Amino acid sequence: MAGEYKPGAFSINGRAYQVVDHHFDVVVVGAGGAGLRATLGMAEQGLKTACISKVFPTRSHTVAAQGGIAASLKNMTPDSWQWHMYDTVKGSDWLGDTDAMEYLTREAPAAVYELEHYGVPFSRTEEGKIYQRPFGGHMQNYGEGPPVQRTCAAADRTGHAILHTLYGQSLRNNAEFYIEYFALDLLQSEDGQTQGVVAWNLDDGTIHRFNAKMTVMATGGYGRAYFSATSAHTCTGDGGGMVARAGLPMQDLEFVQFHPTGIYGSGCLITEGARGEGGYLVNSEGERFMERYAPSAKDLASRDVVSRCMTMEIREGRGVGPDGDHIFLHLDHLDPELLAERLPGISESAKIFAGVDVTKAPIPVLPTVHYNMGGIPTNYWGEALNADGDNPTRIQPGLMAVGEAGCASVHGANRLGSNSLIDLVVFGRAAAIRAGQVVDREAAIPTANEASFEKIMDRFDNTRFADGGTPTADLRLKMQKSMQNNAAVFRTQDTLEQGCTEMKDIWGEMKDLKVTDRSLIWNSDLMETLELQNLMPNAILTVNGAEARKESRGAHAREDFKDGPLAGRNDDEWRKHTLAWVSDEGDVKLDYRPVVLDPLTTEEEGGIDMKKIAPKARVY
Ligand SMILES: Cc1cc2nc3c(=O)[nH]c(=O)nc-3n(C[C@H](O)[C@H](O)[C@H](O)COP(=O)(O)OP(=O)(O)OC[C@H]3O[C@@H](n4cnc5c(N)ncnc54)[C@H](O)[C@@H]3O)c2cc1C
Repeated sequence: MAGEYKPGAFSINGRAYQVVDHHFDVVVVGAGGAGLRATLGMAEQGLKTACISKVFPTRSHTVAAQGGIAASLKNMTPDSWQWHMYDTVKGSDWLGDTDAMEYLTREAPAAVYELEHYGVPFSRTEEGKIYQRPFGGHMQNYGEGPPVQRTCAAADRTGHAILHTLYGQSLRNNAEFYIEYFALDLLQSEDGQTQGVVAWNLDDGTIHRFNAKMTVMATGGYGRAYFSATSAHTCTGDGGGMVARAGLPMQDLEFVQFHPTGIYGSGCLITEGARGEGGYLVNSEGERFMERYAPSAKDLASRDVVSRCMTMEIREGRGVGPDGDHIFLHLDHLDPELLAERLPGISESAKIFAGVDVTKAPIPVLPTVHYNMGGIPTNYWGEALNADGDNPTRIQPGLMAVGEAGCASVHGANRLGSNSLIDLVVFGRAAAIRAGQVVDREAAIPTANEASFEKIMDRFDNTRFADGGTPTADLRLKMQKSMQNNAAVFRTQDTLEQGCTEMKDIWGEMKDLKVTDRSLIWNSDLMETLELQNLMPNAILTVNGAEARKESRGAHAREDFKDGPLAGRNDDEWRKHTLAWVSDEGDVKLDYRPVVLDPLTTEEEGGIDMKKIAPKARVY
C-alpha cells in the first residue's frame, strides 16, 4: 500500500528505522479503566479497534484504586442521582460543566450494574446487594446530610476488580491489543485533523503507525510532575504532552488534587474509605481537629478541605512526629474483623510502608498529589475540543479523550472521591457510543501524512541521541521539587511567579538532556526521557494557569485570595475554564471558555431543580 515502508527503508538524520503500518477504525491509547471501557464499547459495535498500552493493561494505575465507585443505587441509604449531582457540582466548586455532571450522575447506576453483569465481584450486603460505603463530600438531601452510602466497593480493591473484568471482556469482543507499545505523538493531517498515532514497540524497537479514523487518548494523569504523589510512576501525562505538541489546548490544569492521606514518606495511598469506615484524623494534642473545621461532615469533608485543614494544623505547630510535620490517622478503634474484611489492602500497605499495625497504632499521613482535575478539554461525549475564547465548543476532528487524561469537565476545581472510577466507565462508554455515530465505517482509513510522521520521528531520534550534560533523572527531580514547592496545597502570587520562572528555566534545560542508552529495545532511559518531555508541558501549564487565576476555588487555594463570603472564590470573573497552550520554546498562552451552565433536561423533563445547584459558599 502507498505510504508504507519496507523494513528499514525509513531513515531520519541518517539513521534507519523499521516502520510497520496498521489501519483501524479506532485506536485507543491507554488500557486503564477509561481506555478499556472505550475499547470494549467500540469493539462491541463492530468498529475495528486497537488498544495501545505502555504497560500490561492490568498494571495501569486504575488497578490501585481502592475505595470504590460512586452511583446512587440506594442499597444502604436513601439516595438519588439529583443528590449525587448536587454533591458533584458543589465538590467542583461550581466549575464543572452542568451537562456533563448531569450525564455522569444519571448514567452512573446503569454503568455500575453493567460492570456487575460484566463480572466485577462487588462486596455484598446481607441481602446480596452491592455494598456501598460513605465517602467524602457525598451527602443526603442536597448536602443537608447525613452522609450517604453511595460508593460501591469490592473490598478495598475496586479498581483491580474493574480493570481485570474490563480486560477480559475486551478480549472476548476481539479488540486488538498492542501491549508495551509507547505512543509517541499524534499523526496530524495537513489541515489539522487527527489521523492516528505513532508508537514505539518497546520490546523489539520497531516503529508503528496506527492510521485511524478516530484516536482516543486514555493515558491517565500526570501526578509524577510532583515530588510526592500517590500515582504510579507511569502517570506522566503522555496524552497531554502529545496534545500540547500538536498545538491543541489543555484545560484547567491548575486544579491538582491533594489526597489527605498519603503515607508519610512513601506517598502510598490510604483510601478515603478508611475514614468512610470510621477512621479519623488527630493532631499532636490528640484532638480530632476536623470537628472544628467542618462540624457537619467532619473527617468526611471533601478532599481539598481536609488537606488544607491538615496543612494548617501542621503549620500552626500541631503536627505529629519528631519534626511535627504530619498527622495521625486512627483506625485502631475499629473492629479488627471489619478492618480485615473491608480494608485488607490498606492494612497491608500501612504495615509495609509505615511499619504500623493498624489494629494497634495510628498511621502517619500527609496530603499527597493524587488526581488531575484538568486535562484535554472534551464535551460530554468525549470529543476533544480545539477550543479558544471565540470557539468554546469547536471539536477537534478525529480526536477523543476519556478518563483522567480528559476534562469533560465533571470534577471542575475539585473531584469527589469515587467519582473518577465512575467517570472512566460512563465517559468511556459515551465515547464509544459517539464513535459508533460519527465514524464512517465505509470511508477509507487515512494514510499517514509524511510531514507529520517525519516531525515525530525527528523528535524521537533526536531524543534517542541526546548528548547534553543533564541526566533525565536530575532534571525530572528539579521539575518535581519546583512544582511541589511552588504549586502545592496553598499558593500565593509570589510562589506561583517563582514557579513560572523556574519552570521556564527547567524547560530550557531540556535542550541539555543526556540519554546514555542508544538502543531501541527495552531502553528505559529513552522512555523516561520521553515521559519527562510529556510531564513538562503539563507542569508548566499547571503553574502558569495557577498564577493567572486570581481567586481561590476548589483545589486551587490562594492565600492572597481567601476573604469574602465565598472565601476567595470570584464567580463574576473566574467561573470559567482555563485553556492553555505551550510552544516548543516553553512560551505559554492562556485563554478562557465559559462553564456550561445548561443542564441536559429541565426540571419539567425530570431534570434537577436548577435553584438547588445555584452557586453559594462551599461549606461542609
Ligand atoms: C492510589 C490511587 C487510588 C485511587 N482510588 C480511587 C478510588 O477508589 N475511586 C475513584 O473513583 N478513583 C480513585 N483514584 C483515581 C482513579 O483511579 C484514576 O483517576 C483512574 O484510575 C485513571 O484511569 P485512566 O483509565 O484514566 O488512566 P490509568 O489507569 O492511569 O491508565 C493509563 C493508561 O494509559 C497508558 N499510557 C499512558 N501513556 C502511554 C503512552 N505514551 N503510550 C501507550 N500507553 C500509554 C498506560 O499504559 C495505561 O494503560 C485513585 C487513584 C490512585 C492513584
